[in-house]
Amino acid sequence: MAREQTRCVFCAGHEQQTTPELLRVTYGQIFPPAEMPADIAPADWALRAFHNVIPRIPEACTGGRNESYVVVEDARHYQHNARSVQDLQYSGALPTTQFVALLMTNVRVMAMAYANDTVQSVLIRKNQGPESGGSQPHIHNQVIASNTLFPDVEAEMQVTAREPEIWVTCVDLFRQEGWIIQEEGELVTCWSPFGKFPRCFDVIDLAHWGPMTEMANDTIERFARALHQVLVLFGPYALDYEVHQGTGIPLHVHVNSRTFTYSNIGGTLNLPHDLTAKVQAIRRRLQDLAPRLL
Ligand SMILES: [Zn+2]
Ligand SMILES: [Zn+2]
Repeated sequence: MAREQTRCVFCAGHEQQTTPELLRVTYGQIFPPAEMPADIAPADWALRAFHNVIPRIPEACTGGRNESYVVVEDARHYQHNARSVQDLQYSGALPTTQFVALLMTNVRVMAMAYANDTVQSVLIRKNQGPESGGSQPHIHNQVIASNTLFPDVEAEMQVTAREPEIWVTCVDLFRQEGWIIQEEGELVTCWSPFGKFPRCFDVIDLAHWGPMTEMANDTIERFARALHQVLVLFGPYALDYEVHQGTGIPLHVHVNSRTFTYSNIGGTLNLPHDLTAKVQAIRRRLQDLAPRLL
């Protein structure tokens, strides 16, 4: 385990091995003294952002500037009490307070990207586990900006422009089918039949549309808490998520579990007969977890 940390460029003490730091948030800025994790020094960084050494969108597309960023989610490479190299830190293991601070930090990084006039679209992307394509084991997510709209986001914007009610209509359908996991006002967590992978969960804020950089902190916080609950449910298992935002669509995230997926037939919506029962079981599990998360 110590050898892995020695090699890890995202670990504390190796800050010189990444591209220059753009911002950091310390544990002391996230946690009040009474809530500070035992093994943590308040002055140490908890979150750190820098440019991705490999731009996900070529720099030539974004005015010669690298608009791909990495946000390290925690200084700790391993979970508390880890016993093997498999026991990596993961997003669902972070305290909710830290995950909220993480999403706020992502929004600050997003604002840096939007300061580039060539940038049209920004998303937040996370890969957890090697099965989902996560190459760096140290817990982190990415902020990726592009000079064109990302195809998935563009499709959502086009459909929404034609049928602005489509998000509410979908949520009504999910409610009717028993696919809602949690609803808090207009913030909805649901199983989605439209995901890229057949275990897709969406968190949709039907009340807040437009760029995240223009949203109030409490809107971001509420959304972060709902997303964190889904990540707690999935635990350390492989997943990816993408936060989609921008003009003309409500703030939402698609979370794809990359394990325990079922296969549908020829890309149809041919769903397992016990799907609703499974979603309801997840809903009950989340309700059991909820008091612990608040
Ligand atoms: Zn590390
Ligand atoms: Zn989307």
